[in-house]
Amino acid sequence: MTPLFVAQRVLLVDDEAFVLKLLARQLQNLGYQQLDSCDSGLAALERLEATTTAAAPPFDLIFCDLQMPGMDGIELVRNLALRGYAGGLVLVSGEPGRTLQTAERLARAHGLNLLGALRKPVDPGLLREVLTRHIAAPQRATERAAPAYSADELRQALAQRQFVNHYQPKVELASRQLVGAEVLVRWDHPQHGLVGPDRFIGAAEEHGLIDELLKTVLVSAFEDGRAWQQAGLVLTLAVNASMDNLSWLGLPDFVAEQAAAQQFPLTRLVLEVTESRLMTNPLAAIDTLTRLRLKRIALSIDDFGTGHSSLTQLRDLPFDELKVDRSFVHGAAADPALRSILESSLTMARQLGMSTVGEGVEDLADWGVLRQAGCDLAQGYFIAKPMPAADLGRRLAPAQRDPAAGLRHRSLSRPGTRPGTRCRNQRSR
Ligand code: C2E
Ligand code: MG
Ligand code: MG
Repeated sequence: MTPLFVAQRVLLVDDEAFVLKLLARQLQNLGYQQLDSCDSGLAALERLEATTTAAAPPFDLIFCDLQMPGMDGIELVRNLALRGYAGGLVLVSGEPGRTLQTAERLARAHGLNLLGALRKPVDPGLLREVLTRHIAAPQRATERAAPAYSADELRQALAQRQFVNHYQPKVELASRQLVGAEVLVRWDHPQHGLVGPDRFIGAAEEHGLIDELLKTVLVSAFEDGRAWQQAGLVLTLAVNASMDNLSWLGLPDFVAEQAAAQQFPLTRLVLEVTESRLMTNPLAAIDTLTRLRLKRIALSIDDFGTGHSSLTQLRDLPFDELKVDRSFVHGAAADPALRSILESSLTMARQLGMSTVGEGVEDLADWGVLRQAGCDLAQGYFIAKPMPAADLGRRLAPAQRDPAAGLRHRSLSRPGTRPGTRCRNQRSR
């Protein structure tokens, strides 16, 4: 039988000899021949070091038990990350589900190539599934080697207008109507192609250029918003702001002036704020947020449940909308812990009079869970990926030409299918 996993040097780490034997047998049945095993985390690290220095290639895949005397699985995972282990990793454990899930998250946070986590005794079908998943998943090691951009490069990009807005639809769960879009900036880099914000926002903050970036994003968003409005599409636009942007006391006035210039009503602007790092100037941030609110701009707490986007923020700041982080949305249907965090976040938001958005809706199950939990809006790949302004316009264009087609968009009306998009408040002709 051909191995599922093409590169096949496998290391099994477990303190129970019986488990090692059983797992080895299961892998052999799937065609794996080059199997090695260790009965402790320490022995595994030694083996890894020995193989990496020898002529033989290092292991391609490691199965790691969590509960082991001496160095446990969590410590081994940490050490694998420290040594830059780039192969696949499967966690195996007899521990209750939540411990295993936490370990999974930890391994991912370390940047390891985690294929999955399996409960003991390992189910052969699930084992096969995890290995198959790996073949489809791209290696992320090269993706992570992002260049760090200098102040000069960023300044030049700003001057040459290389930053472009993409738009990701936000859909009302109850009606399946498109009600707005999140504005997500990209850098159309002459050499690196389309670069995502995670690779330059930090640099822009570091080099003190984040306000300049926000200005270009806002101005383009108002321009696109105006064009859509003229075409009869009424959309609420949600722009992301960094914590650093909130130290700029002139932000509320800048927003008001630019919106007025494009006749974009401020009541249709949402500012999404994530507190990815501690507020450097909390007084200025509260000042700015309160003045934005006074201008009727809606404030959204983004990535709720992660980092510092938390209860303290809700207590202290005048938020109108809560966006539950995608780590609590995707997969919540099958995970009771995620589901209860999701549901209680939504309940709390409702009690505080806030509207709610679930982000990271990747499949029908995610959509269903949000719907059941009474979430207002959904956003995610299941609905649509972020796209250039022209594409969003084109997607909505047929509906515009024939309002009836828009209102009864076929993919919208069939239950159990992708929700698709249609536009609310569309001008009827
Ligand atoms: P965010 O505000 O939480 O935006 C959502 C991110 O999740 C976007 O990534 C979006 O492409 C991605 N996403 C949407 N649906 C799904 C899904 O179903 N599954 C998965 N796995 N991901 C999904 P993107 O565009 O790479 O942006 C990353 C972050 O960069 C944003 O997170 C936001 O915090 C930040 N960002 C984007 N634009 C700006 C900006 O103009 N200014 C600032 N300061 N930050 C920005
Ligand atoms: Mg956002
Ligand atoms: Mg988010």
